[in-house]
Order: sequence, then structure tokens, then C-alpha cells
Amino acid sequence: MARKNESVDCNARRAWHARQGKIAAMKIEHNTVVTLQFKIADAQGKPIQNSTEPMVYLHGGYENTLPKIEAALDGQAKGYEVRLHLSAEDAFGLRDESLVRTIPKTDFPPGVKVGGELEGRTDDGAPHIYTVMKVKGDKVLLDGNHPLAGKALRFWLKVTDVRAASEEEVAHKHVHGAHGHQH
Ligand SMILES: [Zn+2]
Repeated sequence: MARKNESVDCNARRAWHARQGKIAAMKIEHNTVVTLQFKIADAQGKPIQNSTEPMVYLHGGYENTLPKIEAALDGQAKGYEVRLHLSAEDAFGLRDESLVRTIPKTDFPPGVKVGGELEGRTDDGAPHIYTVMKVKGDKVLLDGNHPLAGKALRFWLKVTDVRAASEEEVAHKHVHGAHGHQH
């Protein structure tokens, strides 16, 4: 009889654990990998970008996404949706007009196209990526600001998956696999 009771207890415990597993979906915390669908619009609500592919990032202050996005998602789980209105400072930063420059076209390789990117240097000599804004006669206008710098933005985010990061991902400070870092 003792044996039988034991096995009943055991089954009950297993069932309880299974229920807990269902209720306690993995929460977004330090060193979890978060998959998101997102939409970005300007302050007036005009769409700028919708996710065609999900965004995947390593959560926990690794600067893989905006700090305000991490703060809004921390402690949440799969299925969570949120809308955020961010100032330019909290989104992609203010514009830095020292990163706008006009340079002779002869300084560039042939085939410079508007919308293309070139690696140049800042006034301090640090390497920096510039976007070609305009080619006018023999001059090229470059802008080293993030395309969304200086803009207040609205975000809609939906968490579609949360998983624990692997030791390797934590060591590399980024996500591996589909939509992550390929190497
Ligand atoms: Zn890696």
C-alpha cells in the first residue's frame, strides 16, 4: 500500500509541475533572447518601417537595442504588446551637424550613388560610416547621422518568443542562429 500511495503522490507532483510550466512562460530578463515583431512610425503616426523579418536581440544591456525598449520589455513574456512614444534623445539620438559634409567627387571611387554608404573619418579621426545624400556637380553631400536621428518616434512591439541565451551568445554579447549573427 505504501508503494501505491507513493506513486500517486509522484504523479500528482508531475501534473503540478506540468501546470506550473504552462503558467510560468519564460520571462524577459538578463541573458534571454527576445524575438519581436515591430512597427516604427514618426511622431504623427506616419509609418516608417514595419518588420518583414522578426528582430532578435540579446536582452540585458548589451546595446543590441534601445535602452527604452529593453526597459519596456523587462519582466514581460511571449505575447506581450506595447506602444512606446520616444523622444529623439531616447530613440536614435539628436542630429550631429558636424557629421554632415560636402566633399569633392574626385575623392571617391567611381559609382558613388545616392543612398550608398562610404567609410570616412570624423573630425576626431575616428572611422565612421557616411550615407551619400546628394551628388551635385563635382560635389558629394554626406551625412554620418543615423537616418532616424533627430526624430521622435512611435514604436509598436510584440514579443513572439523568449528563450534562454546560450553561454556562447552571452560570451559574444549577441544572438546566433536565424536572424542573429552569422559566423
Ligand atoms: Zn557570436
